[in-house]
Amino acid sequence: MPVSEYIYTGLSGILLFSAGASLASFFMCFLFRSTEKKYQSMQRSVCDFCGSKIPLLFLIPVLGFFFCRGRCRYCRKNLRPEYPAAELTSGFLALFLINRNLPFFAGIPLVLLLIFICAEDFLLYSLHIISIIACTALCIVVIFILKTDFTEALISLAVSAGIFLPLYFFSGKRLGSADIFLVCSLSLLLAPELIFIMLLSASLCGLLYGLLVYLYNKFSAGQPVFLKQKIPFAPFLSLGFAFSMCFGEYIINRILF
Ligand SMILES: [Zn+2]
Repeated sequence: MPVSEYIYTGLSGILLFSAGASLASFFMCFLFRSTEKKYQSMQRSVCDFCGSKIPLLFLIPVLGFFFCRGRCRYCRKNLRPEYPAAELTSGFLALFLINRNLPFFAGIPLVLLLIFICAEDFLLYSLHIISIIACTALCIVVIFILKTDFTEALISLAVSAGIFLPLYFFSGKRLGSADIFLVCSLSLLLAPELIFIMLLSASLCGLLYGLLVYLYNKFSAGQPVFLKQKIPFAPFLSLGFAFSMCFGEYIINRILF
């Protein structure tokens, strides 16, 4: 591959990642302001605690959190780490899903919807029924338009329901019912064997996030901690779906068999 192609791939990757992360930041800001009525819609981003305006440098998705060391520079309170987590997840969602195996008309709305779901779950720890219905409807429409194998889609649905329904009941419903609907809808677009790659990568990301939550809470003693000990699973399921869409076939054909 010529050098110019490497540069092009690298730059388009950075652009896609930044677009996804910025979009997550926008959606979280929108959701936060629609739940907190005191904010005016055009106001610049402010600290959740003291209301000070956040400098532009610290508003850069993902990096801004690290530049300000996770604290407001005025009141020194911890900023919510869910913000960089959602931005990072959404950046990878955009990077993995755009132009990969999905036509443009299906890829763009699906990425937008999954980034919104990611922002919603990280910020509110719940998903609105409309987000889930929209995702299910979009996946069904894509299946019909692409005229892919309906039998394969149904087998994938049966495989994911067979894995996730017992998990839902045996986990004491820690896995939300919205997560089950989300994973079943996304499974329609995956080959049955890719469901396992999705499950494995989603679980690994969830475990890594859980570990970071634990360490963050442990080492921020004396500071108010606003990160809940809950793990929002929808963002990691979406990321697992995007990862298996992008690398699943390669992993199964070249690495496992
Ligand atoms: Zn502050």
